[in-house]
Amino acid sequence: MKLRTAMDRAAVSMDAPSRIFGGYMRVALEEAQKSGCLGEVPVGAAIADGDGKLIASAGNRTRQLKDPTAHAEILAIRIACEKHGSERLLGCCIYVTLEPCPMCAAAIAAARLARLYYGASDPKSGGIEIGPRIFSHMQCHHRPEVYGGIGESESEAMLAGFFTGIRECGGLG
Ligand SMILES: [Zn+2]
Repeated sequence: MKLRTAMDRAAVSMDAPSRIFGGYMRVALEEAQKSGCLGEVPVGAAIADGDGKLIASAGNRTRQLKDPTAHAEILAIRIACEKHGSERLLGCCIYVTLEPCPMCAAAIAAARLARLYYGASDPKSGGIEIGPRIFSHMQCHHRPEVYGGIGESESEAMLAGFFTGIRECGGLG
């Protein structure tokens, strides 16, 4: 697992155009907000291809779809694979507002996503930094580059609002 420090992240943001880097986390945050407004846990994801083009975005829909696997990452991966015409998303990047759970981390590895950018850490259900640490597991056959803490404060505020019953359903500030 490569969890980068803030200094490393700064170096990364110089490599990747900041328009793409920040822009797609914003798309993920907007998806999270839409989910929250629907009464879902506010988590969103976006996927960009190797050329930096947005190919998928989705928010958590477990309640609406009555599907415990309908996490934002899984839905975005399904859309991206359909568009890509392949079960592998080689060279693609995924942006998620919250640290992926073990199921989604395993799906990210299976999809061969090149990079994962996520917002807030999830000490309760995350599968990367703590708990199962999916990408460090010896049975994990593909480890994406991982960058945490991107758009963290907005993601945390949205989740905190959701769990205290306060939902901001206007535009993101
Ligand atoms: Zn998940």
